[in-house]
Amino acid sequence: MKSRLEELRANLQSVNERISAAAESVGRDPKEVTLIAVTKFFPLDDVQHLYDLGVRHFGENRDDEGAEKSKGLGEEATWHFQGQIQGRKIRSLLSWAEVIHSLDSLDHAAKFDRILDEMEQSRDFFIQINLEPAREDRGGIQPGDLGGFLDELHHFPHLNLLGLMTVPPISAEPTTAFADIAWLATGHGLFQLSMGMSGDFEAAIRAGATHIRVGSSILGSRPTPA
Ligand SMILES: *Cc1c(COP(=O)(O)O)cnc(C)c1O
Repeated sequence: MKSRLEELRANLQSVNERISAAAESVGRDPKEVTLIAVTKFFPLDDVQHLYDLGVRHFGENRDDEGAEKSKGLGEEATWHFQGQIQGRKIRSLLSWAEVIHSLDSLDHAAKFDRILDEMEQSRDFFIQINLEPAREDRGGIQPGDLGGFLDELHHFPHLNLLGLMTVPPISAEPTTAFADIAWLATGHGLFQLSMGMSGDFEAAIRAGATHIRVGSSILGSRPTPA
């Protein structure tokens, strides 16, 4: 039987080959694409294996899980947060997450900025865009609200905006959704795009993704959360 390390090595190699092929198919340098291994619900042992295999970017959806795992890993790791933000977790999030992919509220932006000011730090962010009509249970702002959101963001100097993040609607053609986001970003002078998951990261790379968030293609199907 293959060890877990060998299994992860093989999966990672295959994902890296697919990243290179997708990038090269549109004349992009694969190095422009940051692979974030989404380790949510997987144990620290898996995270450690991936670190040993050279992965340096890790993504989590929950504050408590990210805080815990990030403590156990080497210094060179960069931790990303792509889950829904809860106001009362913001201070804790800032203790471990170096890049926040899911900013979608100005109240949260204000709170991030206030705490970062206390910490005398700044932090990298993506704004999450929701390509579905507004729904309560899904994160992200509507594309039409981006201009107003960006105007307000100027009040928060500790937030370093990288670009846009999205999760395409299940019903949508991902290629179209990614092209829409790339167009929206460019139109607002934003050049980094966090998009593409296990099922669609090649399409995302072809559309210009700079950060892909890949879980199950590397780690296998997710255990149920505790
Ligand atoms: C879980 C998750 C991912 C990774 O999903 P896979 O399909 O397992 O690659 C990426 N982005 C977000 C926002 C997620 O919640």
